[in-house]
Amino acid sequence: MWKRIKGGFFISKFLPYGKQFIDDEDIDSVVEVLKEDFITQGPRINEFEEKIADYVGAKYAVAFNSGTSALHGAYFALGLGKGDEMITSPNTFVASSNAALYLGAKARFSDVEKETGNLDISKVEENISDNTKLITPVHYSGNPVDMKELSEIAEKHDVKIIEDGAHALGAKYNNKKVGSLEYSEMAMFSFHPVKHITTGEGGIIVTNDDEYYDKLNLFRSHGITKNNLVNEADGDWYYEMQDLGFNYRITDIQCALGISQLKKLDDFVKNRRRIAKTYDELFEDNPYFDVVLEKENNESAYHLYPILLKDEYKSKKAEIFSRLRANGLGVQVHYIPVYLQPYYQNLGFKKGECPVCEDFYQREISIPMFPTLTDEDINFVKDTLFDTISTI
Ligand SMILES: *Cc1c(COP(=O)(O)O)cnc(C)c1O
Repeated sequence: MWKRIKGGFFISKFLPYGKQFIDDEDIDSVVEVLKEDFITQGPRINEFEEKIADYVGAKYAVAFNSGTSALHGAYFALGLGKGDEMITSPNTFVASSNAALYLGAKARFSDVEKETGNLDISKVEENISDNTKLITPVHYSGNPVDMKELSEIAEKHDVKIIEDGAHALGAKYNNKKVGSLEYSEMAMFSFHPVKHITTGEGGIIVTNDDEYYDKLNLFRSHGITKNNLVNEADGDWYYEMQDLGFNYRITDIQCALGISQLKKLDDFVKNRRRIAKTYDELFEDNPYFDVVLEKENNESAYHLYPILLKDEYKSKKAEIFSRLRANGLGVQVHYIPVYLQPYYQNLGFKKGECPVCEDFYQREISIPMFPTLTDEDINFVKDTLFDTISTI
């Protein structure tokens, strides 16, 4: 428990910006697998994949050992390679574009909307070239990008869409779950512990396409298969390596956890949304920061709850951030624009490339958001924010 006194804080707890919820049912289901024959390459993987596909409304799912390797697989399945370009948001985790670089493709960053931190769709077209093969929208914070509008631009230029849905498992766009793939080829979800459900590490690609499905399976396991053989089989032991894949497999241990977690996902999302609505009300018209509001027809899954400092506090963000930490709020920043990373700077990206994203970065702080936050926690967050920023 924490105690607060006027003028200062005694803190015996620290609220992180996000964390997992694991109960006895989750633990039992993992222990059960450990006693079985298959701890990897067994039946739990398929079961988890089918359940995720059903949940989001897609035909297939292929699970990977991380969201990053899943994206790598999806970009491979699409055929992204040398000479190709892809467009994504700079307001994302580095994996969204790194996965394209792994394949020798080029990434381009298209600026974001100042209200939501999502791709500004009106600016996407100017970043499309003859070599553009893919657009990867990131549903930042869990709030879906306007996929219909984006898909109209993509179709016009014969460019495909793969959704980075790492923040958006359980989110809805026009009453359909992200991952239902009405406007995209594939979508990725991550099962890192700060995401909606966890497998420790893990990720998944959903798709409706048989060819992508086969390629994803190949890529996950060294490019090796026993199906659709190129040559005649030498015998029952025969397998073929048909592509250069990786060992990106997830284990049955992890998938057992995922299956158990999935049962709780709707409750997790409901709680995240309830907490967000409470924050929205508590923060309405406050003089310190703006919040990201849901767009009409969207149901955000609220992976994050970003606050955006107003002009007069923007230049004091570093100090506000460290004081919030000292006062017991495990705040984070999402994100440093990807192209400002030294690796990307060495590739020739320049500061100023996406000015709205840079401004968003200068204002943004992610405050605690996870399903087990109590009303007491929420009030603590509000008091700590207001007290800290007002006395800066
Ligand atoms: C978490 C995340 C990823 C990568 O997922 P991992 O499972 O950590 O590899 C990719 N994109 C975004 C936007 C993420 O938040």
